[in-house]
Amino acid sequence: MAQDKSWTAKEIRQQFLDFFQNKGHEVVPSAPMVIKGDPTLMFTNAGMNQFKEAFLGNRQPSSSRITDTQKCLRVSGKHNDLEEVGHDTYHHTMFEMLGNWSFGDYFKTEAIAWAWELLTEVYGLDQERLYVTVFEGDASENLERDDDAANAWKAYVPQERILNGNKKDNFWEMGATGPCGPCSEIHMDLRSNEERAKVEGASLVNQDHPQVVEIWNLVFMEFNRQADGALKALPAKHVDTGMGFERLCMALQGKQSNYDTDVFQPLITRLSELSGITYGTAEKSDIALRVIADHVRAVAFAIADGQLPSNNGAGYVIRRILRRAIRYGFSYLNLKEAFIHKLIPILSQQMAEFFPEIRDQKELVEKVILEEEQSFLRTLEQGLNRLDQIRQESQSKTVDGARVFELYDTFGFPPDLTALILKEEGMSFDIASYESEMQKQKDRARSATKVDTGDWVVIEEDDREEFIGYDHLEAKVRITRYRKVKAKNKESFQIVLNLTPFYPEGGGQVGDHGKLISENEEISIYDTKKEHGLIIHFCDKLPENPQAEFKARVDSKRQKSTSLNHTATHLLHQALREVLGTHVEQKGSLVNPDYLRFDFSHFSKVEDEQLAEIERLVNQRIRANFPLEEYRSIPMDEAKEMGAIALFGEKYGDLVRAIKFGDSVELCGGIHVQASGEIGLFTLMSEGAVAAGIRRIEACTGDAALQYLNEKASLLSSLQQELKNPKDPLAGLLKLKEENAQLKKQVEAFQQAQAAQERKAWAQAIESIDGVDRLILETSLDAKSIKDALFQLKADKPQLAAVIASKNDGKANIAVALGDAILASKDWKAGNLVKELAAEIGGGGGGQAGFAMAGGSKPEGIEQALAKAKTLLQ
Ligand code: ATP
Ligand code: MG
Repeated sequence: MAQDKSWTAKEIRQQFLDFFQNKGHEVVPSAPMVIKGDPTLMFTNAGMNQFKEAFLGNRQPSSSRITDTQKCLRVSGKHNDLEEVGHDTYHHTMFEMLGNWSFGDYFKTEAIAWAWELLTEVYGLDQERLYVTVFEGDASENLERDDDAANAWKAYVPQERILNGNKKDNFWEMGATGPCGPCSEIHMDLRSNEERAKVEGASLVNQDHPQVVEIWNLVFMEFNRQADGALKALPAKHVDTGMGFERLCMALQGKQSNYDTDVFQPLITRLSELSGITYGTAEKSDIALRVIADHVRAVAFAIADGQLPSNNGAGYVIRRILRRAIRYGFSYLNLKEAFIHKLIPILSQQMAEFFPEIRDQKELVEKVILEEEQSFLRTLEQGLNRLDQIRQESQSKTVDGARVFELYDTFGFPPDLTALILKEEGMSFDIASYESEMQKQKDRARSATKVDTGDWVVIEEDDREEFIGYDHLEAKVRITRYRKVKAKNKESFQIVLNLTPFYPEGGGQVGDHGKLISENEEISIYDTKKEHGLIIHFCDKLPENPQAEFKARVDSKRQKSTSLNHTATHLLHQALREVLGTHVEQKGSLVNPDYLRFDFSHFSKVEDEQLAEIERLVNQRIRANFPLEEYRSIPMDEAKEMGAIALFGEKYGDLVRAIKFGDSVELCGGIHVQASGEIGLFTLMSEGAVAAGIRRIEACTGDAALQYLNEKASLLSSLQQELKNPKDPLAGLLKLKEENAQLKKQVEAFQQAQAAQERKAWAQAIESIDGVDRLILETSLDAKSIKDALFQLKADKPQLAAVIASKNDGKANIAVALGDAILASKDWKAGNLVKELAAEIGGGGGGQAGFAMAGGSKPEGIEQALAKAKTLLQ
């Protein structure tokens, strides 16, 4: 292609940011790829996500012009490319989106002019190969063609390369609701000159051609899509652009596939080394190599952002991506042992300069992936065994699809792998019945999670909600909007206030409870959460008069207990880093009124002495009674200078809140005690593993800690009393255990002697008639001794036919044993005999031909049963 400079991926990224910085844009970091606190979105799927609130007018952006590169993941929801990935050469699960934004500042003309300047003059792409699209309008939405964009393009692009596009391609929407608007895309034709001469490039735009691909999308945000489907004009007009970084690299490096660029080649090369299979030799293995090189990035960045693979929600999505990669390696690259974790050093080396989280957490990412790999490979093995069984049991060459679904559902054993293995045996499975099972499960899942969110009823349009909870627990408030939400067939009510003392769930701390009180009514608030920058109060009902004046009152006792646990969490974090080392990173936190839970990265069990030291340090700092030093709004750099650590996967603004108690400094929005002494007491309750490389500590404070210790003390004193108050209760207990073991041994010896006696008696009771050694009697031995004795006797006497009855705990038992010679000569079966005899003792049972047992609730029937045995064994 025309550019004469050769660009590395790093240079391409940097050039983009520099270009827009020179046009007055502020360069900001990528937001985390894993999203917390947005029920409509699990992962960042576009650069604009982190600015959604700014588009909607709920938040002021730090600058009216911003640029960045954003880690995106498109594996769920409206934008889901998972099935394409690896099969094509230009869709990824995780990719970087380069973007520039205008918030009510410049609009179409500048956005178009700069995009063109950057691509053609700075990067030097061949103009002849670029096509642009504009929105053609849509009558059903009452939207006209985007003539403004078309006119802006005319300054640079000849008419025949400006194409009209429909709503699907040229009206961008983030999800079912939210900011949206017409867009204008730039496509690049990467085909050879011969091919271009044969087929006009314009005819291939937006036709899923692998070498005529969209590289950049310029979105002109004008509307908000509401839940009822209507478009509502936004308060201001914005620009939101997104360019696929990997696709741009392909174009600038003159490649025809994203995987041929220096973004993916190092990973593919390593995979080839591991598998011995070279890229470019066969279609199946090529797809596998692409899938794995792609998926490892998604999984590694998700883990570095704090999202561990798990069994639900975002964690499950990550687990599935990882398993997909393992499976491709297993089936098509013959990699039967864990291998994906071996790619992390390369990935980390490649990306660390721009995304340091991947280097700083390399060890954790490797451990987590390794453990996931090992456990899934075990599952695959179990699945293979089960599949073997299914295959043998199948009556026909076509296995029932329901069995294949069951395999998938219980072992996570993927149907395409099943198909592959069956095919090797000349078999297949019935796809229709597989799909019908799958559909049934989907329907079940859908009805279980259906959320029906109504539109807000807005009372006060432009009011920004103010949080006053750091200074007040009570306030006079007005309701600005409310709505009804139906989820899992349960209704809930949500209210937004003009200002609120209620703390919304965040930073691990649970949301406040409390009340809204007006002259005529009282509404209970049972939770508070943040959504799209709004603080939402979850209520037991909607007010009769939403316009009334209310008093909002936080449940202060509950909040107080919570704040003890929150401050203690900071002290715990500090102590952990001191005692265990600074590799300790917070990986999860729950702070509620009853206790605190803290997850952190650490690679071995925390030893008892270390735990004691941690507990001691925390309590020491409680007694030191450090006052709360709150820095409500300071620049991030200043907070870092004070010693605060930013958490990976957390999104911070330019101004942050820092909380300091003594030498503990944390970036935190939570509610704290005024001085650490208020905590009173801190006690650890448990320490354990949650996942590979992640430990969990649970602890409690204040009254709860005292109660916890009191309960332990009172348990100990009861034990002591039971042990008759020895000086050293532990020694007393150990002695008791020792004695008990001795006694057990003695009892066993007695039982064995008794059994030996009985067996002697049995030998004498045997009647030998017509080649049958018949033994029918009642004994006082326990069931196990009877079984042992009968097996021994059977081995000695192949002619044995024995029926032994016994009673214990008011129940009757019958055992039947037949020697091998009897089994060979007669058509008696112990299992059948015992069934007939069991009828006499009011019970049932069964077993094999040679030995069977039955139990029943009527011991008085034993005599009858033995009499019957005599006739049966004639
Ligand atoms: P496509 O039609 O190719 O799937 P899109 O319309 O979904 O693209 P946008 O939502 O407009 O893309 O995203 C902006 C840019 O991000 C695209 O122009 C493209 O360069 C890039 N992009 C989108 N999806 C992916 C993906 N799955 N992998 C890599 N890059 C992508
Ligand atoms: Mg797409």
